Amino acid sequence: PDVSKLLAASRRSEDGARVHREAEERRRRNMINDRRSLPMFKHREALVDAIKKHQVLVVQSETGSGKTTQIPQYLVEEGFGRIVCTQPRRVAAMSVAARVADEMNVKLGSEVGYSIRFEDCTSDKTVIKYVTDGMLLREFLSQPDLKDYDVIIIDEAHERSMSTDIVMGLVKDIARFRGDDVRVVISSATLNTKKFSNYFDDAPVYTVPGRRFDVDILYTKAPEADYVDACCVTVLQIHAKEPKGDILVFLTGQEEIEAAEEMLKERTRGSGSKIGELIIAPIYATLPSEMQAKIFEPTPEGARKVVLATNIAETSVTIPGIVYVIDPGFCKQNSYNPKTGMESLLVVPVSRAGAKQRSGRAGRTQPGKCFRLYTKWSFLNEMDEDTVPELLRTNLCQVVLLLLSLGIDNLIDFDFLDAPPAEALLRSLEQLYALGALNEEGKLTKVGRRMAELPLDPMMAKALLASEEYGCSEEVIIICAMLSVNNAIFYRPKDKKVIADAARAVFSRGGGGDHMTLLNCFVQWRDYGYSHQWCRENFVQGRTMKRARDIRDQLDGLLDRVEIKRSSVGTGSKVPILKSFTSGFFYNACRLQKNGNYRTMKNPHTIQLHPSSCLARSEIRPRWLIYHELVFTSKEYMRQVFDIEGRWLFEVAPHFYGEEDVEDTSKRKMPKVVGKSGGRS
Ligand code: ADP
Ligand code: MG
Repeated sequence: PDVSKLLAASRRSEDGARVHREAEERRRRNMINDRRSLPMFKHREALVDAIKKHQVLVVQSETGSGKTTQIPQYLVEEGFGRIVCTQPRRVAAMSVAARVADEMNVKLGSEVGYSIRFEDCTSDKTVIKYVTDGMLLREFLSQPDLKDYDVIIIDEAHERSMSTDIVMGLVKDIARFRGDDVRVVISSATLNTKKFSNYFDDAPVYTVPGRRFDVDILYTKAPEADYVDACCVTVLQIHAKEPKGDILVFLTGQEEIEAAEEMLKERTRGSGSKIGELIIAPIYATLPSEMQAKIFEPTPEGARKVVLATNIAETSVTIPGIVYVIDPGFCKQNSYNPKTGMESLLVVPVSRAGAKQRSGRAGRTQPGKCFRLYTKWSFLNEMDEDTVPELLRTNLCQVVLLLLSLGIDNLIDFDFLDAPPAEALLRSLEQLYALGALNEEGKLTKVGRRMAELPLDPMMAKALLASEEYGCSEEVIIICAMLSVNNAIFYRPKDKKVIADAARAVFSRGGGGDHMTLLNCFVQWRDYGYSHQWCRENFVQGRTMKRARDIRDQLDGLLDRVEIKRSSVGTGSKVPILKSFTSGFFYNACRLQKNGNYRTMKNPHTIQLHPSSCLARSEIRPRWLIYHELVFTSKEYMRQVFDIEGRWLFEVAPHFYGEEDVEDTSKRKMPKVVGKSGGRS
């Protein structure tokens, strides 16, 4: 080998390393400066003092002031010990932890880490831990006084998520019990902190004034028929006409975000040279973390970034550089009807408080503009002032089960910030009783105890416990994992719909509805060595599948903890697998009507098969179905559905269904579906 060449190469690589090091040093210096310029920084001493002095402190300041990223660091620097900080959203927990690790110049998962359901990125060294509120709630099960933590920060309290509300109730108790040994910080981005202060025995409120620039608010003259389309039109108008500055668009979920992304790509194709480049950066809960980083990357000179976000960008995550906000005025919200026991995910108008938060995102670094894609009249007359706390509009089964397993038996007297309707509490007790989690006195059974150990919805937990009896726990955890990844498994490119549908139909061939389809899909992928190639050929999202695999592995670990034997029946025998799910989801059974619609068994109610279900495509409609969830778009749809035999209901839940409920009233022929069902929506 030529020594001089080697030397030259080594010098080049040294040069490269030096350039890289210098860039990194510059980046770090900037970051430190950024930290010092945050509104929170000027209040560092006073804030730390207040936390020393008061066991419970409410901190209020505008989004982006540094509550989430800075307060925990100040406390660590002052030797406060171990700090846990809750977030209502998993994406926020991950992204904020990554940012703080970077600011502290440590590896994510060492001194700074996060813990979200099915993913723990912490170690013994962790002193700042970001967790979802749901995860902290589960930690009460293993350590009811949370003695691992010296400071508990309940962040984004204004969001009033169900788990945050319950955590506050439990932490209030801990604060009394642990006394001076623990500090509690409640942090909120909205002004109505009085409620929190009163709740925590008149805890003092520390307000950090934010800096804020004017935001011009523009309304539409008439309501928009298709707001995703209207968003894209507005993005392109801003891009063509307005001065530089990035755009933030609020959409309701992944499906809309993907649709908007595609639309924008299509409409900007080939226009690159005339107007600057438009960089599209999506952010939603199930987006893989390496892709989330894109929203924080600085926009190159001459280009413009458009961030397509869910509600996450309203207060949990602050994106730098936003000057324009587009707000169609909707978000996705779960809603629960305690009368019927039905739960569904709805797209609803945001509240005025939410709309104000959204427009505020435009004025962080300079004056901005907010395009509200609704009329001023609807803002004033059709929107609620505040978002209803989640606890008041959700199925409480999971929370009730958890509280009961913490020994809190008297739920009516639990110190809720806002108590849920008694009817909803009763309904959840009834459901838990039906699932066998409670006995007739309302006390937790052994089954109930085991269900509470599983970080799953009680129905899913019950299905998993039942799989032991039916000898198919391996199959059931795969299906649970696949159901947990949010309907983002199969995709259908516009120009390849027919092939994509055909590929998917193969998984459904053996019957058993969407549940067996998901199982077959996973098992085939596994048999092909978890191959990417296989995913592409079958129009399956590789990264979603990887997430499903991670969840499957986590659930597999839980089997040991709850002492469920591993067993398998293979993909060939669907009856035991479906019976396991029937044991958990019998509440969601429905029956075919003469007119081809389905009606729920209890509290009769007409619902439709979601067009994405494999059963919506078959000619023959099964007489009995069980759905996994309801979604409401134009109609009330059941999503993820499997067919059963009516008598299974009586077999798995004789206390719930009478023989007369499930008998085959006639041997009449099944009505044929007239016409083909349409494409997936
Ligand atoms: P608050 O909790 O008060 O809303 P944060 O602590 O979340 O404020 O944010 C403080 C600052 O840190 C914001 O200016 C935000 O832009 C910045 N920041 C937060 N996360 C990141 C990130 N991942 N990358 C770059 N900047 C970030
Ligand atoms: Mg925050």
